[in-house]
Amino acid sequence: MVLCAKIIKIAVDGYSSCGKSTLARDLAKKLGYIYIDSGAMYRAVTLFALQNNYIGKGFFNKNDLIANLNSITIQFKPDKNFNPITYLNNKNVEKEIRQIAVSSYVSEVSAVAEVRARMVALQRSLSENCGVVMDGRDIGTVVFPEAELKLFLTAAIDIRAQRRFNELTQQNNNIDFETVKRNLIQRDDYDKSRKTSPLRQAKDAILIDNSKLTKTEQLSIALKLAKKVINEN
Ligand code: C5P
Repeated sequence: MVLCAKIIKIAVDGYSSCGKSTLARDLAKKLGYIYIDSGAMYRAVTLFALQNNYIGKGFFNKNDLIANLNSITIQFKPDKNFNPITYLNNKNVEKEIRQIAVSSYVSEVSAVAEVRARMVALQRSLSENCGVVMDGRDIGTVVFPEAELKLFLTAAIDIRAQRRFNELTQQNNNIDFETVKRNLIQRDDYDKSRKTSPLRQAKDAILIDNSKLTKTEQLSIALKLAKKVINEN
């Protein structure tokens, strides 16, 4: 752990499955900062919408979801390795929110302005007065436009799809590569073209293409950038 005099906010945005969470979590550990996975929050809301039949194949009762947003509680509790585990209404949903069933609807749910307003408020309140690394799609543009360091990650689509496919099959999901790839492309398109807080690179974000980088190489680039900003502040 690096002891730092000044605490900063670090935004890690980018396309689906390009290693944002891994980088953000590892960077936070190195700096002794908190890590917040904003995608997990949108996934938890989507799971809630699925459980209550507000969304499904060919329908989305947005108004019902909006009317019931107040009955959603999302929390992160650390596991034994200090990795954050997502809880929806006091139930551990960490595994469930990563399933393709949730991935298939999460972009539609996260395009709803009322959902975003609630999640952004929660993201800001969890990060008050602390060093934070948060990953998502709109962290550098909307949640923390003032973040001292903004990274924007990307990687070739086949590489991203392969990484996600490996992750899902390691967790015993019976899924084929093309389905995974299609989901990533669809989510990216949806996230880029929505009206509220679309996925885009902030003007002052540093672009990192990690197609040919290992996790360690990527972390060392980000850590160097973070230390530079921390020492300058
Ligand atoms: O990061 P992850 O892939 O888990 O995010 C799932 C989905 O949540 C994204 O495809 C996007 O639709 C939505 N999301 C978002 N804004 C964020 C984080 C995630 O819209 N800050």
